[in-house]
Amino acid sequence: MARYVQDFSEGGKDQKDLLGGKGANLAEMTRLGLPVPPGFTITTDACRAYMRTGQLPPELRVEVTMAVRRLEDALGRGLGDFHEPLLVSVRSGAKFSMPGMMETVLNVGLNDASVVGLTEFSGDERFAWDSYRRLVQMFGKTVLDIDGDLFADTLDKAKAAKGVDEDVDLDAADLRALVDAFKEIVRTESGREFPQHPREQLDLAIVAVLRSWNTERARLYRRRERIPDDLGTAVNICSMVFGNLGPTSGTGVAFTRDPATGHTGDYGDYLVNAQGEDVVAGIRNTLSLTEMEAADPRAYADLRAAMRRLETHYRDLCDVEFTVERGTLWMLQTRVGKRTAPAAFRIATQLVDEHLITEDEALDRVSGAQLAQLMFPRFDARADRTLLTRGMAASPGAAVGRVVLDSATAQRWAAEGQPVVLVRRETNPDDLGGMIASVGVLTARGGKTSHAAVVARGMGLTCVVGADRLEIDLTARSVTVGDRVVAEGDTVAVDGSTGEVFLGEVPVVPSPVSTYLEQGLDAALTQVAETGEDDATSDLVRSVHRLLTHADEARRLRVHANADTAEDARRARALGAEGIGLCRTEHQFLGERRLLVERVVLAEDDAARDAALAELLPLQRADFTALLTEMDGLPTTIRLIDPPLHEFLPDLTDLAVKVALAEERGQADPQDVRLLAAVRRMHEANPMLGLRGVRLGLTVPGLFALQIRAVCEATADRLADGGHPHAEIMVPLVGSVMEVHLVRDEALRIMAEVGAERGVHLDLPVGAMIELPRAALTADRVAEAAQFFSFGTNDLTQTTWGFSRDDVEAAFFPQYLANGVLTESPFESIDTKGVGRLVRIAVEEGRAARPDLVVGVCGEHGGDPESIEFFDQVGLDYVSCSPYRVPVARLEAGRAAI
Ligand code: ADP
Ligand code: MG
Ligand code: MG
Repeated sequence: MARYVQDFSEGGKDQKDLLGGKGANLAEMTRLGLPVPPGFTITTDACRAYMRTGQLPPELRVEVTMAVRRLEDALGRGLGDFHEPLLVSVRSGAKFSMPGMMETVLNVGLNDASVVGLTEFSGDERFAWDSYRRLVQMFGKTVLDIDGDLFADTLDKAKAAKGVDEDVDLDAADLRALVDAFKEIVRTESGREFPQHPREQLDLAIVAVLRSWNTERARLYRRRERIPDDLGTAVNICSMVFGNLGPTSGTGVAFTRDPATGHTGDYGDYLVNAQGEDVVAGIRNTLSLTEMEAADPRAYADLRAAMRRLETHYRDLCDVEFTVERGTLWMLQTRVGKRTAPAAFRIATQLVDEHLITEDEALDRVSGAQLAQLMFPRFDARADRTLLTRGMAASPGAAVGRVVLDSATAQRWAAEGQPVVLVRRETNPDDLGGMIASVGVLTARGGKTSHAAVVARGMGLTCVVGADRLEIDLTARSVTVGDRVVAEGDTVAVDGSTGEVFLGEVPVVPSPVSTYLEQGLDAALTQVAETGEDDATSDLVRSVHRLLTHADEARRLRVHANADTAEDARRARALGAEGIGLCRTEHQFLGERRLLVERVVLAEDDAARDAALAELLPLQRADFTALLTEMDGLPTTIRLIDPPLHEFLPDLTDLAVKVALAEERGQADPQDVRLLAAVRRMHEANPMLGLRGVRLGLTVPGLFALQIRAVCEATADRLADGGHPHAEIMVPLVGSVMEVHLVRDEALRIMAEVGAERGVHLDLPVGAMIELPRAALTADRVAEAAQFFSFGTNDLTQTTWGFSRDDVEAAFFPQYLANGVLTESPFESIDTKGVGRLVRIAVEEGRAARPDLVVGVCGEHGGDPESIEFFDQVGLDYVSCSPYRVPVARLEAGRAAI
């Protein structure tokens, strides 16, 4: 018989696939002897079975019965009992945490009879009715799909009628009346009575949790976080403990270190006399842990001890959810906590210094994406700024955008290309779409553990929370702070590192981390001192330096840059590039030089062509000399001209109109008429698959020869100046080995010629760009002529999938991502199964034919973290990416190697 249920006491943290993250960690805490209320987990197998069939597997019912009985026996209470009722929570929990995306129902097991039992058992009537009204409310909303506002409004009315502000000011009689009112809502909205039978409550809640895996917002979140849709969620059934049992009870959320800044020392929010989501929902203002310590030193000491235990056990920042019931601590959740990019780097090095992890492990705890975030510019603290208000720094970044007050508006304006800052009292899971659309989020309520903060941190979105002087008026569509009014649509600047919010735009300065990357540690530390930033920032810069240095020591892959100009090359080298993997020469033919190329292409005789080529030669040589000077001593791969012909010719439509208009006036320029005929003749229906790359080079006489000669002469010039040029010639869009042979023969002839003219020996490697499936599949042959390979994975992706990137990305990728044909764009991360397979074949067969074949990649994938891991695995020698991605690639190459 399949097993769909496992008690907390049976599992462990390595079973996340089966038990989900929450279940696995509840089991782990139970094993560690921490105070976890007993319970059991329904495995993700059950969820997958449910998704397949739309029904709970029959064995599950039986297994749940047995597990509930074990629980009842262990606690000496019964589900629905009149005297000592057992209550449970029914909690979602998938392998990867999806904060607030799925459902949880608390207090299952309460009904008209057991609420009396709970009163008796606890001696607190108010508490019993508060628990019951919460159950009806949560059950109505999540299980019966009733609009949650109906309950919330009724609750607000009850408070208003009594003239009080907070839930805790309602007494037992009020709450009892509220239960009746809530039951009435259930009756009218769902057409059924609130179910009194505890087992029916339990079964319905389990189904609701399973179904919550597939809500629209959960799917949206998964797509964004690249979590597969077929994992399913586990369901945790956990006996209830109560934080709403009066002033010695409460509930909270805590981190073992500050997840926003990485500061050492625990950090959290605590709410007295409250249950569950009250803390994160920002309903009342929370206490800090220091205030909790003052209020309840014993529970706090237990919490501290538990957190220390967890941090030692997981050897990482942990976050916990806990409840104190009449002075006794209960642990309800833990996991290795999400953190901001600066916190990730700082915590990783702190843990090394505390001898809790090795440097290799530290490197594994940070990512290239986080490093990229640290390179974003920041607000200039010395600029003239108008402070609007201040909140808590929840997720770093410098966001400038127009204020929007709801999620729908945020999405609409963002779709029109406007940067927007979502301003809300607090956010809830329905705001996810708006948050994704925004450049920053600002809330008036809630702490660093509120929904907005947690979600923004996960997404790397700038966020400030708890700016409590902020009043939001949804009717007037404006925000006020004191007597200052900001209308929806006005621009604000949100600083997620300091918690400050400014009116209007604020100029930005390079981040200290990017200063470090470009100019070194001293320059960065000087900048930190000069701009008056805090120690955390210098600590961060040092952490980045340490981890990047370690990555450089650890990595096997070399990192090159794609750079077309001497200036790009200088920048790339400063950022740590060890060569140029791709110099796109066509960028040197823009502007006035385009006309020279046009003359080469359209030349009616050899003399005209040679004249144009002769004019191009010194220009091109100067480009290469400058490039080789910057890259002295390092490999510099120069790709011969690649783009389709039409990019060098006048636009067909423009020219046709011009000629037609001139003809109408009877004064057509014969030159233009000839040009038009030529452009028509050369017009291609599908230029990306037409006359381009090596095909163009072998068709238009003299073009490649000119470029090769320019490279050779530049090399000779550099040698004469005592330099160490290492130019390499790369042939684009190779499909057949013969193409390489032809270009190579010509290159050898030119090397010999220039060598003789200049009295030097020239031996420049000639290699092939592998960007057509045929080149990959005949790599053994291609390697006979090519001395190196470089994968052009952009074109290889286009030609393997038959996708034209410019056409497909807007046309149907969104649809394909939504329906799961694609889990991510193959242009962002390499499609390892298809395109990657071609890369693998080409590497193996190429090296078999030529053991010293140097192999690299120069598509945009060269700077993509996931792809770098793959390129390391298949044994490439280097990745090449745009200059500003070089540090990211260095870090990721280090992570791939450990
Ligand atoms: P989420 O995944 O959204 O964090 P949880 O399943 O963790 O949802 O439940 C949310 C909150 O409900 C918990 O943080 C805790 O405060 C409360 N809760 C859940 N189960 C129990 C329980 N057995 N006893 C008391 N409170 C609980
Ligand atoms: Mg939780
Ligand atoms: Mg290409």
